[in-house]
Amino acid sequence: MLKVGIIRCHETEDYCPGTGDFRVAKNGKGAFEEVGPVEIVGFVTCGGCPGKKAALRAQKMLEKGAEAIVFASCITRGNPIGYPCPHFEGMKASVIKKIGNDVKIFDWTH
Ligand code: SF4
Repeated sequence: MLKVGIIRCHETEDYCPGTGDFRVAKNGKGAFEEVGPVEIVGFVTCGGCPGKKAALRAQKMLEKGAEAIVFASCITRGNPIGYPCPHFEGMKASVIKKIGNDVKIFDWTH
């Protein structure tokens, strides 16, 4: 079973505990259709705008066993407050710069 570390939006934390992310991970649905059920080894926020803590937190999740990094749909799709992250591309670039190009990255969850 693939082990993943999920990064979510700090701003939406008060509105969503990540229930949908855990559901699709457990059932291998949404973004995980292609790999089947996944094990979540870390579930962190970006640290707040503009997401500068995402890279270090991604690195820490890899050290704890994650084999892929996932940006939750609150970031790329704006769920549940209808506000996609305006800093996503920069945040993703900083994560890739930190962890390298060989680690698979998912851009959404559900
Ligand atoms: S940087 Fe993006 S993901 Fe992070 S809190 Fe701000 S809007 Fe949310």
